[in-house]
This record gives sequence, structure tokens and C-alpha cells, in this order.
Amino acid sequence: MNEKGIPRSEILKQLTSELSRDFTHESGRILGSMCSKPHNFAKQVYIKNLEKNLGDPGLYPGTLKLEKEAVKILGSLLSDPDAVGNIVSGGTEANITAMWVARNISEMRNEVILPTSAHFSFDKAANLLGLKLIKVRLNEHFQMDVKEVHKAISSKTMAIVGVAGTTGLGVVDPIPELSEIAKEQDIYLHVDAAFGGFVIPFLKELGHKIIDFDFKLPGVCSITVDPHKMGLAPIPAGGILFRDPLMLKVISMKIIYLSGGDVEQSTILGTRSGASSTAVWALLKHLGREGYREIIRRCMEVTVKLAEGIKNIEGISLITQPAMNIVGLKSDGIDIRRIAQELRRREWAVALFQNHIRIIVMPDLKNSHIKELLEDLRQITKELR
Ligand code: PLP
Repeated sequence: MNEKGIPRSEILKQLTSELSRDFTHESGRILGSMCSKPHNFAKQVYIKNLEKNLGDPGLYPGTLKLEKEAVKILGSLLSDPDAVGNIVSGGTEANITAMWVARNISEMRNEVILPTSAHFSFDKAANLLGLKLIKVRLNEHFQMDVKEVHKAISSKTMAIVGVAGTTGLGVVDPIPELSEIAKEQDIYLHVDAAFGGFVIPFLKELGHKIIDFDFKLPGVCSITVDPHKMGLAPIPAGGILFRDPLMLKVISMKIIYLSGGDVEQSTILGTRSGASSTAVWALLKHLGREGYREIIRRCMEVTVKLAEGIKNIEGISLITQPAMNIVGLKSDGIDIRRIAQELRRREWAVALFQNHIRIIVMPDLKNSHIKELLEDLRQITKELR
């Protein structure tokens, strides 16, 4: 640390220089991120509430009320306004919390059945909580294969995880079938809708046929739904919701020394952002269903253009028809890593999976960006063919 303080102007100059290397969402060059530039209104609300600490909620009863209301609104979006939970730091914390609950209510069982497409946060959860992951293969539609789930169930099964909007392709697992299995066999079912939770309900309202995934299904015990992804809230903002309030009890701890008075915490974090919850609440209220529906409608319009464009380029194709605003691009003749390399050289920030490139059509991505991208793809594939 420097001995003497440096003037703000000097530091701001340094910051501008250092951060000029970062990608920006406005540029339309970030093609592989599930987060985007946060909504301006949410940003304003967030900045105004930076000091609010929900780790000591007795000091901030107003903020706590807004967190509870935000959870209620998310619950109503996911077919259960009585669901309980928290606004947490992101999908990783939400998924770990769900596994923590599942472990605490299942005596001596430690096996979690999940698809190979599940997010790596479950590997972290397994490592932290001493769980054994049983990863089942996908069917021809890149969904968790239900037959394999049946085979994987044993006396040690602690939970089943289904994904509604997979990280790689935005695929929705057969959650209705998983719900039936969970109900019949009395197994905890968690749905990771970190991305899809803010997409699927609006796609349904727009008339798309898409699989049920939420608390409407009686076997679903908990859902991850992230406001900092398609909810357009500032980072950090994840959501974890439970159907039954007793589920929160099994991880809650009483803290007696806090200045706001005794409190029961049921989050991994102690000190946690009240600004996040407040911004989420404000944005949910401000945009309403109509606002989010319109955002999803526009994203899907661009997604369709991108998908059609890819189909028309020789040498590449879609890995599957996009169910939501996530597009998977593959090639049978060209090494997909070389295509990704070329795209990155041209400053397109794409995500590279084992057999495909993933493009997420976030609201920042406009038709003009897609046109430019398709032109580059056309050139790259021509050069590499
Ligand atoms: N779940 C899914 C389906 C995801 O795609 C992701 C992130 O990409 C996560 C969970 C983890 O979310 P976060 O990065 O907010 O921790």
C-alpha cells in the first residue's frame, strides 16, 4: 500500500486506462455471457442503497421487507406466491443452498442425480457438502434421460436436479417426469432455472410451447432463479426459492449478538447486499410482466435471425433448434475450436463448449451486431473449409 494517498483525478485516470481493456455489453461483442448491462433504474436504486446489510436485518427492516416481497414476486412468477427464500449472490450460491437443505433433510443419503449438462456449481456443492454426484447422460434432445434417472435411483439418493435452461444450450429437462418420480419415491427435486426462470414464463405468455418447470409441478421442492441474468438486475443477485418454509429452517442459524437484535440466518453469506434485494424489488415492480415479456420477445426475434443466419452458412449448423435465447453452433467439417479462435481474434467473446460454440442473445445484442457476426462467420468458415 502506498504511504501517501493519491489524488482522485490521478486514480480515475489510471482506472480509465486499466479498464479500457474490458469488454462492454454495449459493444455487442459479448456473446457468451448470461449477464448483461443492468437496467438503468435498478442501477440507480442499487447505488442509493450500498450501505444496507441484510446480514444484520434488524437494522434494515425496510430492506428486509423488500427482500421478502421480491421473493414473493419471484414465487408468483414461478407459480407459488407463498414460496420462501432469499435473494443471494448468484446461481452458484442458490444451487449450493438447495443442496445444503436437501442434505440436511435426508438422513444419511448423499447421492445427487443430475444431468451431465448441469452447471459446475453442483460440483462445488458436492465438494463442500460431501455429496456424490451421479451424472446421467442426455437423450437425443440434449435433455436429462429419464430412463437413466430411474436406473440411477438407489437407497442413497438424496436429491434429483433438473435444469430449466441449461448453461450450454438453454434446454429444459423433462421436469414434469422428474416431478412424478420425486413425488412417487419421496425424493427432493431441485430445479436450476438460474437462466430460464426469467425466460420460460414469458415465452409461455408469448405462446411458445415449452415444458413446465416450476412449483406448478408438485414434486418441485426448490428453484434457482437469477435476477442478475435475464432479470437484468445488477450483479450480485441470485434467487433461491423453497416451496415449504420448513426447508429454510433446516439450514437456519440463530445469531444473538447483532446490533439489530437476534436474527435467524438461512444464507451462506453473513454480511450480504441489501442493495441487490432493493434493486431487484424495484426492477420487478418497474418492468412488470409486460416489460419482461417485451424484452424476451425482442431477444427471441434476434435469436431467430441468428439461428436462420447460421443455417444459411456452409460448414456450420445449429446443434439443436434454440428453445430460448441461447444458440449452439457446431461444425461437422471444421474444428469448432478453430472457429472460436478466429471469432475471438476478431474480438467476439464467445463461449466454447466441448462440441459447440454458445451464443447468448442478451438484450444488448441487436440485429446490427448479428449481421456483423454472421458476416464474420461466413468469412471464417470460407477460410477454414
Ligand atoms: N445455473 C445455471 C444453469 C447457470 O447457467 C449458471 C451460470 O452460468 C449458474 C447456475 C451459476 O450462476 P452464477 O454464475 O450466478 O453463480
